[in-house]
Amino acid sequence: GKTETLLEVNNIEVIYNHVILVLKGVSLNVPKGGITALLGGNGAGKTTTLKAISNLLHSERGEVTKGSIVYRGQKVQDMAPADLVQMGVIQVMEGRHCFEHLTVEENLLTGAYTRKDGAGAVARDLEMVYSYFPRLKERRKSQAGYTSGGEQQMCAIGRALMSKPETILLDEPSMGLAPQLVEQIFEIVKSVNEKEGVTFLLAEQNTNVALRYAHYGYILESGRVVMDGPAKELRENPDVKEFYLGMS
Ligand code: ATP
Repeated sequence: GKTETLLEVNNIEVIYNHVILVLKGVSLNVPKGGITALLGGNGAGKTTTLKAISNLLHSERGEVTKGSIVYRGQKVQDMAPADLVQMGVIQVMEGRHCFEHLTVEENLLTGAYTRKDGAGAVARDLEMVYSYFPRLKERRKSQAGYTSGGEQQMCAIGRALMSKPETILLDEPSMGLAPQLVEQIFEIVKSVNEKEGVTFLLAEQNTNVALRYAHYGYILESGRVVMDGPAKELRENPDVKEFYLGMS
């Protein structure tokens, strides 16, 4: 059957500091149950797009000045970030952002603070997160600030999972990680998508790995979508090969 569109970004424009036009009409369709990749180089506007969706631009003096963002048929662009979390949308920020002074397990539990389904359900989901990230279980009593970059990325994704999200907006999961670890993170994203049914919109500069795991991709350049298509087609597209897949 036809796949349901969960998140729709319609021709949005984003301006920082009232003058800097960064997104110049970006449109995206994120289907329920899929992994959608937002690709493009440094400064193309990937992070800005994710922050526009989760309404996190205000603290950076950015605003959506045109277009609309619709989640499950509801306009969400004037919604408080916390209300969006209630609707099931959570963002994992670039740079991981774990609470350094809390243990790994305490970090994971902070992800569940808005839930109302009780301690039993939260405890079960903690085990669910540990089943995807056995390494986090080993490190659960460690202070997050003393864990490795890869463990912190896992912790940030695990914390997002603890909110029982329908959709995760994942910003640059590969950043600063060794290739083998990048692969491991993407494998986990894939199995969380398949087994838990979580929808992903992920921003990645690493086109190669993103297009191997995503179902569909959008390529951004200077605040515009210059190409989009099924990941398989993008991987085989000569321009994508030349400009984004490098030597691979
Ligand atoms: P990166 O991988 O570096 O995060 P990106 O594709 O996510 O790249 P953005 O971070 O969205 O790109 O940045 C897009 C453009 O907006 C860049 O030119 C950047 O300099 C500019 N920009 C980002 N944040 C701000 C801000 N708070 N004020 C002004 N300009 C900004």
